[in-house]
Amino acid sequence: MARSKQPATATAGTTFPAAEAVDIAQLVEDLDGMLTRLRLGAIREQLDALLEEAARRQLNLREALAWLCAAEVASKEQRRLSMALTIAHFPFVRTLEGFEFEAQPSIDPGKIRDLATCRWVANGDNVVLLGPPGVGKTHLEVALGREAVARGYTVQFTTAMELLGSLVKGQQQGTLEVRLAQYSKPKLLIIDELGYLPLEPQAGHLFFQLISRRYEQGSVLISSNRPVEEWDEVFGDQVVAAAILDRLLHHSHVVTIRGDSYRLREKRRSGLFRPQAGGSSSAGIGGAGPPTPTKEA
Ligand code: ADP
Ligand code: MG
Repeated sequence: MARSKQPATATAGTTFPAAEAVDIAQLVEDLDGMLTRLRLGAIREQLDALLEEAARRQLNLREALAWLCAAEVASKEQRRLSMALTIAHFPFVRTLEGFEFEAQPSIDPGKIRDLATCRWVANGDNVVLLGPPGVGKTHLEVALGREAVARGYTVQFTTAMELLGSLVKGQQQGTLEVRLAQYSKPKLLIIDELGYLPLEPQAGHLFFQLISRRYEQGSVLISSNRPVEEWDEVFGDQVVAAAILDRLLHHSHVVTIRGDSYRLREKRRSGLFRPQAGGSSSAGIGGAGPPTPTKEA
């Protein structure tokens, strides 16, 4: 098949030949290859369906082009989202829609919805979630983290144990700088479960270094079962704890959750768990304290 070899016509800045000179049938044959080369995979994959729909809706050429581009943009956004969610390493999928605010009356839904706009992430502010086990801290961290991902921010989820374990190891192996840089990179770093387990003696200093680095640059969303007044015990050092809190709480939103564990509430509802007389529990959730007897539905 003879492909047109005619030189480009006089359109400034382009070498594209005039339409009459182009072998359209050949171009159509090459379409798959061109779409691949332009990385328009969604258009390539769904071309027949998209064109049929465009014809059915009697779109003009410009409208049809916009329709095809929209399909590609949606597909690329979906890919970006799923990649960013993988990189974020959330432990499970939780959303704000799935959070029952009625179950946790100490939380102001307006405050959480405001946080869901991620203005605080844009500003490099921090959020501190405090409360006993099972009240939804990790759920809210994941849900707010997903909102940040959806808005295009880089997010990384980790636990305090994992983070500090990594920094301690980095210090021992001479790779602290690399690890600090790695944890400073995401726009939002989520640190879950500070205070559940005892930390190594140098952990406080290392944590301080990280918080200082991120200070006013990137946001930290941190949860703890211990009130901030007890963080000197958590870090085993009053001066270090004060320095950490000074930076963390400057430009911060603190959400304190008071109330029953949602897990125990679910168990109670299903009749699997009943608080024993005297308040001791066999549920084995450390630190939850004796469950408050509630009325059975
Ligand atoms: P925490 O981190 O405070 O210990 P989690 O966020 O892990 O608690 O909550 C424990 C479980 O209960 C999770 O599966 C979470 O999704 C669920 N949960 C907690 N609070 C709520 C709530 N108010 N509405 C819906 N699910 C909740
Ligand atoms: Mg948790």
